[in-house]
Amino acid sequence: MELHSTNNPQLHATFREALFQGLPPDNGLYVPTRIPRMPETFVRQAPDLPFDEIAYRIAEALIGDEIPPDTLQEIIQRTITFPAPVVSLDEDTGILELFHGPSLAFKDFGARFMAQTMAHFNAKDEGELIILVATSGDTGGAVAAGFYQTPGIRVVILYPSGKVSPLQEKQLTTLGYNIAALEVDGTFDDCQTLVKKAFLDEDLRQNLRLSSANSINIARLLPQIFYYWEGYKQVQHLGRPVVFSVPSGNFGNLTAGLIAQQMGMPAQHFIAATNINDTVPAYLEHGRFEPKPSARTLSNAMDVGNPSNFARMLHLYGSTWNIMRANVSGFSFDDEQTREAMRAVYAQHGYILDPHTAVGYLAWRKYRQQKPGKDFGIVLGTAHPAKFQEDVSEILQAEVPLPPPLQQLLKRNKSAIPMPAHYESFREWLLSNYR
Ligand SMILES: *Cc1c(COP(=O)(O)O)cnc(C)c1O
Repeated sequence: MELHSTNNPQLHATFREALFQGLPPDNGLYVPTRIPRMPETFVRQAPDLPFDEIAYRIAEALIGDEIPPDTLQEIIQRTITFPAPVVSLDEDTGILELFHGPSLAFKDFGARFMAQTMAHFNAKDEGELIILVATSGDTGGAVAAGFYQTPGIRVVILYPSGKVSPLQEKQLTTLGYNIAALEVDGTFDDCQTLVKKAFLDEDLRQNLRLSSANSINIARLLPQIFYYWEGYKQVQHLGRPVVFSVPSGNFGNLTAGLIAQQMGMPAQHFIAATNINDTVPAYLEHGRFEPKPSARTLSNAMDVGNPSNFARMLHLYGSTWNIMRANVSGFSFDDEQTREAMRAVYAQHGYILDPHTAVGYLAWRKYRQQKPGKDFGIVLGTAHPAKFQEDVSEILQAEVPLPPPLQQLLKRNKSAIPMPAHYESFREWLLSNYR
């Protein structure tokens, strides 16, 4: 797979290079130079193919030039370990449930695929790779579970003491094996500063091979293409135009959908659904991209004022507003509307939406009002409602049971290393444990 920087078409990278670099040196984002088109036969056969086979065929088209077939099969088998069912809500709407993985959110797909591809390429290199991650709670869980027991890779997670939820803390601190959790006496920003200093510390990097698991890494994006096809396949028999509504923050998920479409998935249209952090819907409305500070909302994984994947979206449309807008509509909603939608769907259908998925549902409803027709809407279910148990049970006045594996998790003992928010201490700890 050939990629290049959004800032410079001459700055090329292979998938392997982009995987380990994360960002190109000019601070753009890596995008595929050519998007391969899947054959017509694949689209026709898709309803008969299992999810892992769909994923394999797409992965082969994208990175088959860099990873041999047998290995790629193994990577896919270890990535696609939970289903992505479309659960129908009413005759026009399905929820594509992407939250059956260990951290109860779609980010599990990206984290697992990244871990597997890194392990593959790393095996041929020298020494252990150490992944440093600062987390405010959420991403850390997906990364920890994704890299758990991956040979040749160790993960160090830094989280702010007392500032993550009890469930999140258990997800970070009970795995052990190759996952170390540092409980930092400070804020999330302190955790991030420690990680940044480590990456800039030339002397440290002479001694340790460090890498990151950044959310804008192309390896996090590619497996998200798989599940759009998987969702499409499940409603293909309806013979109706399919619209995807995507609850969005940094817009990685939506970008993956747009790539799936360019690969030949016959989606009719996409909806960019946001909370009041509406930078992209505003762009779609008037053509100006005006990032702003993020505002806190109920759907906090989407509290992003300057979405990092927007550069990739622009690239896909040759930076042309009209073309993007013909294919993507944008809508934003506030917390009160989100709560009302959660209550209405629970009352009418007995289905519990988490606050993020509820924003996607609202956007699909609004789109359909504006454009009535035969379309079938697939709303991406980005998180399990139990992930936001406290908010959800308060809004619905109902119990939200944790899935059994997470009930087990809560019973396990926490094991974390206390760490002052002080670079020398962190550095010493790294050197004494990993050199
Ligand atoms: C990360 C996340 C989002 C936003 O996804 P992007 O790819 O950043 O747009 C939406 N919902 C949930 C639950 C998330 O964790």
